[in-house]
Amino acid sequence: MNLRHVLGSALVGFVLGAFTVASFQNAAAVRRESASILPTLTHDDAIDEPAASPSATATSGRVAEPRGAAAPAASVSDAERELAAKQLMIPVQGVRADQLVRSFADARAGHEHEAIDILAPRNTPVLAVEDGTIAKLFLSKLGGNTIYQFDPSQRFCYYYAHLERYADGLKEGDAVRRGQVIGYVGTSGNAPPNTPHLHFAISILNADHHWWEGTAVDPYDVLSR
Ligand SMILES: [Zn+2]
Repeated sequence: MNLRHVLGSALVGFVLGAFTVASFQNAAAVRRESASILPTLTHDDAIDEPAASPSATATSGRVAEPRGAAAPAASVSDAERELAAKQLMIPVQGVRADQLVRSFADARAGHEHEAIDILAPRNTPVLAVEDGTIAKLFLSKLGGNTIYQFDPSQRFCYYYAHLERYADGLKEGDAVRRGQVIGYVGTSGNAPPNTPHLHFAISILNADHHWWEGTAVDPYDVLSR
């Protein structure tokens, strides 16, 4: 009687356990499937150096500078807080925060992506995330038609790449307003021809405000709020 009771409990426990395991496996399979139908971008579309980069002088200048007490990690989190407070606009018209996908640490040929890719139909307007200045319009081998925008404090640089084209008349030195159309989504550079998207990056500028240098901050953390 007692033994039968124990055996019965064990059987119920086993069946429940098996069911739980099966449910978990099923959930994992569903997750795998939904992950695989998401568009994946594995091309190398990082910020590349300008062809005529003055990096030799920049590098030697940097090396000569003594490294101060400011820990890079602390300054990045300060920067993230500052950027969060700005409530930046999502740089592609019609895209909501909950549609963004983190891809900052994704591997791209030998380095990390350090940006976010925002998929949208070709020619969707690209919007300035905040007020600022057009620091550079650069035709990049990897990024295609790109825009480097400085924020009003010249502390941050916003990088927009793979543009189909710039907004009419846009030129270096222009002041732009938050939400202003500065370009259009495309596949210039090495973006897959059938996957128009905006490659968007944020960097903390160095003291010398070189548009091609800086410390990358994950745009997802700043834009998905
Ligand atoms: Zn990208």
